[in-house]
Amino acid sequence: MKFDAPITIALSKGRIFKQTLPLLAHAGIEPVDDPETSRKLILDTNHPDVKFVLIRATDVPTYVQWGAADIGVAGKDVLMEHGGEGLYEPLDLQIARCRMMVAGFEGADLSANRLRIATKYVNSARNYFAAKGQQVEVIKLYGSMELAPLVGLSDLIVDLVESGNTLKANGLVPLEHMADISSRLIVNKAAWKMKHSTVTQLLDSLREAVQQ
Ligand code: ATP
Ligand code: MG
Repeated sequence: MKFDAPITIALSKGRIFKQTLPLLAHAGIEPVDDPETSRKLILDTNHPDVKFVLIRATDVPTYVQWGAADIGVAGKDVLMEHGGEGLYEPLDLQIARCRMMVAGFEGADLSANRLRIATKYVNSARNYFAAKGQQVEVIKLYGSMELAPLVGLSDLIVDLVESGNTLKANGLVPLEHMADISSRLIVNKAAWKMKHSTVTQLLDSLREAVQQ
């Protein structure tokens, strides 16, 4: 594939990088270095016009919003928290799939007043309970949400659940399904206009890879 414009793609290490690689390979794009062993944050690819930038999952929408990357791959969870300002979200890549759930002890009273919810997804949690007309207190955490109910920090947590094994190992259960999560291709709004043919070519090829 020959591109008209250089493109920077923002990816996060770990599951998103691993699961996006085969899709990008379908578009003929492969990294030159292995990010798991390299400490580089900017990776060259076999394609002279394409670079990867490796950033923290929660920072991907910010880089794309400000045009520091033209394109990115971000979880719907991260996009729900970010708000999606300055971004288009043209393609569900259907990778890194899981569910955003309310979890807690079995039999927990979800309609109790003034529930305390510990989560890294504060906006999603607030919106979810507000939509049910419920006043809750949301406590922001940055990880290991499962600990919060165990030590009395919160009544419930909002977290991503794949198999449920982490919850189970800590004596918790999923209680309510909030949203299905998967990773999305995001595009900077200015890049969408200025690099339209390149972005469209890439998007078409990725869409084809997803459908296979
Ligand atoms: P960090 O580990 O740097 O704090 P993170 O935990 O958000 O960031 P990952 O665990 O790699 O980073 O998750 C990246 C994305 O993958 C999440 O935003 C989410 O969309 C998805 N994800 C997270 N956990 C799971 C899971 N258990 N199963 C499937 N997808 C998941
Ligand atoms: Mg993680």
